Amino acid sequence: MPKNENTAFISENLHNFKHFDAAFDCLHMINLNEFVPNIYIDLRYAGNDNFMHTPMYPFHTAIAYARKPVAEALKAVQEALNAKGLSLKIWDAYRPYAVTVAFWKRVHDERYVANPANGSGHNRGIAVDVTLVQLHNGMPLDMGTDFDNFTDSAHGNFSQFPSQILANRKLLQDIMTTHGFKALPTEWWHFSWINAANFPVLNIPFKKMKKIVQ
Ligand SMILES: [Zn+2]
Repeated sequence: MPKNENTAFISENLHNFKHFDAAFDCLHMINLNEFVPNIYIDLRYAGNDNFMHTPMYPFHTAIAYARKPVAEALKAVQEALNAKGLSLKIWDAYRPYAVTVAFWKRVHDERYVANPANGSGHNRGIAVDVTLVQLHNGMPLDMGTDFDNFTDSAHGNFSQFPSQILANRKLLQDIMTTHGFKALPTEWWHFSWINAANFPVLNIPFKKMKKIVQ
């Protein structure tokens, strides 16, 4: 398993990425649309409906990527949810490093935006921003706040919501953590995989990723 120090980014070196993607099964990048049955994907950074108020990914990007162990865990989560008539909806997954740098210029607060000095779980392909929707029509469950709500009400321990909202949040958190994800205390929608240092930070743009990942 290759390790990388915080500053030793693979960056946009496609040759390195292809080598590691082929050589190390756990680093393989997966197309979640194809791999996770029935999943809803709405990449909020591919439109204007995000805290930057402008597309940070190519407009209308609709394919989400994550590393293989993450994709396999999401598939297991999705199977458990589908049995309840529910589905995951992905708001963000793999995020090119350059986008994290742009976020940091806008929001200098490590509670809500990853410091580029460390790279983020999203840059490593091991973090996802998700919510729950009805499987048959995509109607969202009420989680109390929208995505990227940078207030205390987005915190996992915020308790001043009606019981149904708290139950919806608990359902999401329980099912994700049961399948190996770690929750983030400040964002109810953010979950990351373990051993982040094993997964290099990537700055492969979506258009290049699309050509590489089958
Ligand atoms: Zn996130």
